Amino acid sequence: MPERTRLICITCPMGCRLDVTHEGHTVLEVTGSTCKRGAAYAQAELADPRRMVATTVRVRGGVHPLVPVYTAAPFPKPLISALMAALRQIELTAPVRLGQVVLRDALGSGVDVLASRDLPAAGQQEPPARHSSTITAGK
Ligand code: SF4
Repeated sequence: MPERTRLICITCPMGCRLDVTHEGHTVLEVTGSTCKRGAAYAQAELADPRRMVATTVRVRGGVHPLVPVYTAAPFPKPLISALMAALRQIELTAPVRLGQVVLRDALGSGVDVLASRDLPAAGQQEPPARHSSTITAGK
């Protein structure tokens, strides 16, 4: 028996409101999308919803007590709470390097968690600001 689910596509800032007809995880029809990525988003959201995750992890002996980290790829949405709990248990030792693996293969997902900036040890000079790749906050 087909079901209808309403979703908001978060693939781009347009935020199209999708009306999805599906049987289980199989999408039968998508209306409301402005482009074909909307149907792909609906299929992924029903079968394997994922989000980028950005947060902070504690650092011992650094110029700051926390370093920002992010998932290197979209992470399974049902596991995000467990991921946050796992990251709260981690304390890195300064210095931390941009791109350093903070948690490899997080919760067996195949996704690594990486540091998104350099963090020198206390007493070392802060590096000049530089930008890493775009990080999308989880929704
Ligand atoms: S359906 Fe296309 S235009 Fe609409 S939010 Fe998704 S990606 Fe953007």
